[in-house]
Amino acid sequence: MARYIFVTGGVVSSLGKGLSSASLAYLLKSQGYKVRIRKMDPYLNVDPGTMSPFQHGEVFVTDDGAETDLDLGHYERFTNITAKKSDNITTGRIYSDIIKKERKGKYLGKTVQVIPHVTDRIKEFIKGDIKNEDFVICEIGGTVGDIESLPFVEAIRQFSNEVGRQKSLFIHLTLVPFLKSSDEIKTKPTQHSVKELRSLGIQPDIVICRSQKPIPLDQRKKISLFCNVSIDNVIETVDVRTIYEAPISFYNEKIDKQVLKFFKLKPRKKVNLIPWKKITKSVLNNKKIVNIAIIGKYVNLKDAYKSLDEALIHGGISNNVKINLIRIESDNLKSNQIKKLLKNISGILIPGGFGKRGTEGKISAINFARKKKIPFFGICFGMQMAVIEFARNVLKIKKAGSSELDKKCYPVIGLLNEWNKDGKLIKGTNKELGGTMRLGLYEAKLRHNSLIKKIYNSSTIFERHRHRYEVNINLKDKFESKGMIFSGISPDGKLPEIIELKNHPWFVGVQFHPEFKSRPLTPHPLFSSFIKAAKFYK
Ligand code: GLN
Repeated sequence: MARYIFVTGGVVSSLGKGLSSASLAYLLKSQGYKVRIRKMDPYLNVDPGTMSPFQHGEVFVTDDGAETDLDLGHYERFTNITAKKSDNITTGRIYSDIIKKERKGKYLGKTVQVIPHVTDRIKEFIKGDIKNEDFVICEIGGTVGDIESLPFVEAIRQFSNEVGRQKSLFIHLTLVPFLKSSDEIKTKPTQHSVKELRSLGIQPDIVICRSQKPIPLDQRKKISLFCNVSIDNVIETVDVRTIYEAPISFYNEKIDKQVLKFFKLKPRKKVNLIPWKKITKSVLNNKKIVNIAIIGKYVNLKDAYKSLDEALIHGGISNNVKINLIRIESDNLKSNQIKKLLKNISGILIPGGFGKRGTEGKISAINFARKKKIPFFGICFGMQMAVIEFARNVLKIKKAGSSELDKKCYPVIGLLNEWNKDGKLIKGTNKELGGTMRLGLYEAKLRHNSLIKKIYNSSTIFERHRHRYEVNINLKDKFESKGMIFSGISPDGKLPEIIELKNHPWFVGVQFHPEFKSRPLTPHPLFSSFIKAAKFYK
């Protein structure tokens, strides 16, 4: 039977619960255990798909087409365990399921309540879709004490009672601040946070203390005493130099050892930290710098393109270079500034996006990349913008556009209303915007003698999608006669998936999001190839 590890957070948000959970999952997996890692989000959106990246950061897409929290991206990148729809739930999803059931009369005669109905649904999520996992790590979003997270905390308390305390472990991550003025490390916020958790019926077994500086023994003892946790289970996590150091740092702090000890287990194999050591060394020591411009609408928000930033770093690792990301807000990009702004750039990337704002700036930058033969990588919306640029300036279709942005344009990018996946019709109309895009893993066939086929070294690929609009296949011959090749197409021949330019060293647009499948230990070939081209540009 699976053992359950619940990770909560206290004091402040953004302490790195996701990274801590992912590092622990890696350490347990590396010691021969089968691990599953999931996230519960206390907000009322059914999924993060309809939230602005300004609110929530990136929306991470799974193989099976779920729009999920970006922490699932960390989990996949650190553990290489493919995340599923069943690994992320929100309060919105829980309530929507319950209300649907209520309307169908499934609770006939009963009052539907937070306890037991909401907590039961949470418990169902925790143990659902588990086969022969040894560990299920569940992270609870938000901070203990928030109104929103109360039903989740209550549900894990009940769950632990039901499966038995010896099968469930509680980890609480808190902040241990350092006060510069008094040159002191403060344990009080941690004491209060654990007190709050205990008032909800949960005694943590392990406390992870996030701190700027190593925590002296005296303070550890204090935390141990006030939080009722053995001193060995007070784990410190000092800021790491790169996130790839996190599994090494947690191993040095013996978190995996304490977890296994709690469950009375022994490692099945020796942990392998060599890949993380290599990556850390490479990230910290690479001297050659490659400047890559990301031109998008949400560039000022750190987490808006999380997987993309990571995938570019992975591409840098595989080419032994350091990536210097230059984030350019597309809204402010006037065509007369482009030359100046992109002066020392060796590669231009236009990421996914929605809506009209900033599109003309992106199109001008693509024009510059095409003409100056600067390596260019267009992802999803970025590919669509490259097609529009080419249609307007090479094919001379002046009104070329996307029906997403302008209903009166000449639609080189158009709306396809219905998606068929696994025999199921997914509606893509304008009426309902949540969960109605072409989402998840789809196949593409790659053309012989194309750059893309050389990059993938395969004629069939599977990549993750998240979009509603498609390049108009009827224009294929027109584009190809002028040098824009549709080098990847869906197996039914209807949907262009990849475009590339014949007379350009590296100009690729993809309708999917390759960044979701890049891993630090196995960088995605498209990112490795793009960075390689950028490295040798100029
Ligand atoms: N807005 C575009 C579409 O829906 C592109 C989406 C994206 O870049 N993910 O087709």
